[in-house]
Amino acid sequence: MDCQDDICNETHISLNIAFSGDIEVECPPDKNIVGQSGWALLHTMAAHYPDKPSEECKKIHQKFIQSFSRVYPCKSCASHFRYMMKNQPPELENREKLSIWMCNMHNEVNKMLMKPVFSCDMQSLDERWRKAEPPCNSFID
Ligand SMILES: Cc1cc2nc3c(=O)[nH]c(=O)nc-3n(C[C@H](O)[C@H](O)[C@H](O)COP(=O)(O)OP(=O)(O)OC[C@H]3O[C@@H](n4cnc5c(N)ncnc54)[C@H](O)[C@@H]3O)c2cc1C
Repeated sequence: MDCQDDICNETHISLNIAFSGDIEVECPPDKNIVGQSGWALLHTMAAHYPDKPSEECKKIHQKFIQSFSRVYPCKSCASHFRYMMKNQPPELENREKLSIWMCNMHNEVNKMLMKPVFSCDMQSLDERWRKAEPPCNSFID
């Protein structure tokens, strides 16, 4: 991908942490960290979207997704997201439709980047983005 933004420099630093001698340094996020965080927000938002949203709720989410596709800091990614949304506008009728739409959008990017595609059924999506099943529901005291 031809991306000139600072954010598109992939650093290979996991979790944005580097070391200066023994001192842990928090680094600015690169494209991968922003991507993982961006998708986490979008999928989690869809996973918690109502089954019967009001018209107001649909409008707010529509505006948020449109705005997200304008302010996302990797400009070429944002432009690609807007292009995909022109062909497949957000499906805001209910939680299931929005979750599956978001999954399909993400899979389009996965395919372009030659990453594995994710199963866009509600069970897989809820397990990943909403319900904490074992071992994800074991908390530290
Ligand atoms: C809106 C948007 C557009 C982007 N466009 C581009 C682009 O044009 N070019 C580019 O190089 N990068 C783009 N990115 C970044 C890219 O998608 C990845 O986030 C980045 O490459 C890091 O990938 P990753 O393998 O760590 O996992 P990610 O792709 O970030 O996925 C994070 C986690 O989401 C889950 N997941 C994967 N696929 C799905 C799915 N279909 N549905 C639900 N959950 C899923 C998996 O558990 C995965 O571990 C974009 C990010 C966003 C948020």
